[in-house]
Amino acid sequence: MSMVYDEYGRPFIILKEQQSKNRVKGIEATKSNILAARSISSVLRTSLGPKGLDKLLVSPDGDVTITNDGATILQEIQVDSQVAKLMVELSASQDDEIGDGTTGVVVLAGALLEQADHLLRKGIHPIRIAEGFERAAGVAMKRLEEISEKMDINSNDHEALVTTAMTTLSSKIVQQNKRMMADIAVKAVLNVADLERNDVNFERIRMEGKTGGSLEETTIVNGLVIDKEISHPQMAKVIENAKMCILTCPFEPPKPKTKHKLEISSKEAYEKLYQNEQQYFRDMVQKVKDSGANLVICQWGFDDEANHLLLQNQLPAVRWVGGVEMEHIAMATGGRIVPRFEDISASKLGTAGRVREISFGNTSERMLVIEDCASSSAVTVLVRGGSKMLVEEAKRSLHDAMCVVRNLIRDNRVVYGGGAAELACSLAVSEYADTVTGVDQYAIKAFAEALEDIPLALAENSGLSPIEEVAAAKARQVKENSHLIGLGLDIEANEEGFHSADMKEHGVFETLCGKQQQLQLAAQVVKMILKIDDVISMGSYQ
Ligand code: ADP
Repeated sequence: MSMVYDEYGRPFIILKEQQSKNRVKGIEATKSNILAARSISSVLRTSLGPKGLDKLLVSPDGDVTITNDGATILQEIQVDSQVAKLMVELSASQDDEIGDGTTGVVVLAGALLEQADHLLRKGIHPIRIAEGFERAAGVAMKRLEEISEKMDINSNDHEALVTTAMTTLSSKIVQQNKRMMADIAVKAVLNVADLERNDVNFERIRMEGKTGGSLEETTIVNGLVIDKEISHPQMAKVIENAKMCILTCPFEPPKPKTKHKLEISSKEAYEKLYQNEQQYFRDMVQKVKDSGANLVICQWGFDDEANHLLLQNQLPAVRWVGGVEMEHIAMATGGRIVPRFEDISASKLGTAGRVREISFGNTSERMLVIEDCASSSAVTVLVRGGSKMLVEEAKRSLHDAMCVVRNLIRDNRVVYGGGAAELACSLAVSEYADTVTGVDQYAIKAFAEALEDIPLALAENSGLSPIEEVAAAKARQVKENSHLIGLGLDIEANEEGFHSADMKEHGVFETLCGKQQQLQLAAQVVKMILKIDDVISMGSYQ
């Protein structure tokens, strides 16, 4: 495609014949974009809620992921359409900011686009729709604030935090152990939280997974867990009051940097060289011992000879520790990373109350636990599970739960789930629509209807009859709104009849900031899609 100007300076576009096929304009473009984006949201719709289904994704190199986390699903799917990629990014940005609600945001955006499609068919201009949606989103955001309630997160039992974390976990594979997992998430976050500044440093929370065992064996360790073992089986496995030397230099004699050749012509010369090497090792070990260290953490390896020497000197060691782990160890134990042997000194050692090696069942796999670290309040969650897929999904779920707890520490307001918040907003927006004259009214009404799609999807995924359930819940909200702001769908109940219930009583909490972010992001992306009226793909000759 090229843009050229005529003699009056008016621009026009020249498209080659083959390329003209790759250009869509006007309402057609908007409609095809809506279709592409909705194809993404319809994938996620069945994954919404506690009874939502999981997706099994196989990557090109055969890795299998089973998850119902929206952001993870979309990350793994290969999407061609640029507009569909906007939906992927939508989910990713909800994940970055909030960490939870990644399915909900895409389902909401999909519902808005479906409504927009109806309005386009009625002949309403995309811009009018986008503006109507924006006004409606403003009203919904306000309503969310009105119905939110403050939680007392400083009270000692932290029940509010646990309940909110449990709501997030209830839609994940780990739901059977959700109480335990929620407790772990809350403990981990509170351990590193700065309650005065209302902030949480996630870098201090490490998550390690080990296949084997069951989810119930997942534990939280007050310190670090490193997937390494002590280098010799006969070395001490528990080191109390550990003083560790954190080395990034290898345990071996230095090698000249240039290419070299060493000629040994006699037995004596060989022996001398051997003695020298031995002496070098001995000096190194002595240096470490002199500094007062009783554990060596080494980024590089050392050979059997050095290993043996370390054993003789009763100096337990760990080799091949990764760079990131080295940094974490140094940070947590207050030690300094030592790049050269000459630099070893007592002041550079890291200290920890106890370092121990743990083993799992009757496998030969071992891990190193560094507890009661001197300097920071680092914690590690050690996730166990029957398979790698389960461990990975449990890690993702715990991460979501921790994000929710962090969000609640930052802003302690919650709204109620199970579609309660969406229904309340839908009613408010619908009421507002009646006061608006002009075409925008249709778009605002449509926004209200789109909000109902969340409870509809929740009911549908649980095998209930969606329209009847949502209509009943809505009718109750209208009647009892003044004192029951948490009226939503209790889809976990198995009784006959309608399932509308007070979600506050059932402990289905969601953070206000998460819900607001969902509304805002979904409205933004829909507006962006509606404003595209020309899709020109360049360079794809056929
Ligand atoms: P997301 O990735 O968007 O968090 P989820 O699959 O976790 O999606 O589902 C979240 C939705 O499920 C929310 O709308 C929440 O209100 C709802 N939900 C969670 N637990 C319950 C419950 N026990 N009863 C009813 N709805 C619930």
